[in-house]
Amino acid sequence: MRPLRFASAVLAGVLVAGGPQVCAQAAKPSLRAGAAISNITPDLGDEIVGGFLPVPSSYVHDELHARCLVFDDGKNKVALVVCDLLGVHRSLCQEAAKLVEEATGIPPSHLLISATHTHSATSAIGGFPRGYYSDVELTSYQRFVARRIADGVRRALHVLRPAEMAFGTVEAPEHVFNRRWFLKEGTMPVNPFGQTTERVKMNPGGGSSNLVEPAGPTDPTVSFVAVREAGGRMLSVYSAYSLHYVGGCGDAHISADYFGMYCEALKKMQKGAEQEPAFVAMMANGTSGDVNNVNFTNPRPRREPYAQMADVAQDIALKVNAALSGLEWKSAITLDARKQEPGIRWRVVEPELSRWAETLEPNPWGKRPTKTDLSTLYAGRVLRLKAASPETKAPVQVLRIGDVCIGTSPCETFAETGLEFKKRSPFKNAFMVELANGYYGYLPTPRHFELGGYETWPGTNYLERGASVKVLDAVLEMAGAVLEASKQSTP
Ligand SMILES: [Zn+2]
Repeated sequence: MRPLRFASAVLAGVLVAGGPQVCAQAAKPSLRAGAAISNITPDLGDEIVGGFLPVPSSYVHDELHARCLVFDDGKNKVALVVCDLLGVHRSLCQEAAKLVEEATGIPPSHLLISATHTHSATSAIGGFPRGYYSDVELTSYQRFVARRIADGVRRALHVLRPAEMAFGTVEAPEHVFNRRWFLKEGTMPVNPFGQTTERVKMNPGGGSSNLVEPAGPTDPTVSFVAVREAGGRMLSVYSAYSLHYVGGCGDAHISADYFGMYCEALKKMQKGAEQEPAFVAMMANGTSGDVNNVNFTNPRPRREPYAQMADVAQDIALKVNAALSGLEWKSAITLDARKQEPGIRWRVVEPELSRWAETLEPNPWGKRPTKTDLSTLYAGRVLRLKAASPETKAPVQVLRIGDVCIGTSPCETFAETGLEFKKRSPFKNAFMVELANGYYGYLPTPRHFELGGYETWPGTNYLERGASVKVLDAVLEMAGAVLEASKQSTP
């Protein structure tokens, strides 16, 4: 296990030097925090959307939730919300932010809403073209989720109490595998666009002799912000791990996947967890666009439904719980946040690709493809992409919670982007949360566009090739800005 990391290098330097920041922090009112959960389980019969084609849900294995945590430093409030959904449309987040601001005064910039990426939920992303257009009319389920998010934040505020926070990390490399593989020359199967020239295959055959090596890293670190009543009972743990999801649910079941099971497992490990207000665990998705739970070198046999996700959830909960006893708790902290929509362009559809799509898909707005016909499915996606306006309003955000900095991306973001944010962030304690405040498809880095594969296909990826660089630049710039702001506010 890597040693737990605490105060940022910058803050530590100031504290050791006994500079003015010490006085400023000591004079601040103490931190208060509160957490609450809203149920967002959809109606039975609503379609489950994780696969290529939706299927009507027939059973609820475990309820879906919007888990909410609010911090108040006496000056600013910050709210974190994690939803058991495949993704959240930007318009849903805007509606929730409006309701939250009206009821609580917390501005949209200080509210982070993200999806876990459970594949056994109904859609809050909206139908295709999903995030293509910035403003959409919300479905009744999206309106319901927005209201439940706002209710959860209001309830968390209702139970606000003096609190302490701490940052921690644990290592869990055994559950994450890069799912993009280089294959031996001449063994690449044909893609939906009729090509065999790609160098990387997503989810290749497990144990295949054609495998060479993974095309990228994994991020094995679970980062978390823990919150407890001043000197006492645990109130909440906000965690992030870079694992796409686990899967292996019952057919047509609604489930929060390992994300929900982790929360339940960690709750069971806390003393007085059911005492009012009940302990709230949260598991956000880190940067897992190219990382899943399948060991392709050594494939495991098929297991009973839910067995694999239960093992992953239990193991991570045990690790995080063990780390809670060694944390350094703080109550005098600074909260801050920034949000922006940098000018990111939609992916340009080249004329050749457009012609290919038009011959295959004469009626892109009406026809429903079958799973076996991936070419037709992608032809439709390409034409929808072509019809999108040139620029998106993809939001990115930074939250500062004491010496911890959380950066967000609205995409299925590759592990290396999150690793780079951790390395380059001006805060030593930093991590990224993906699928935040909107949904804009996969976000490969420029290197991965050269390699090809599922995540880079037009219609799986929607944004321009340089989008990952723009997202990273924007969160790093905002991380610098919140650090600078705290220095300037020091008398
Ligand atoms: Zn995904």
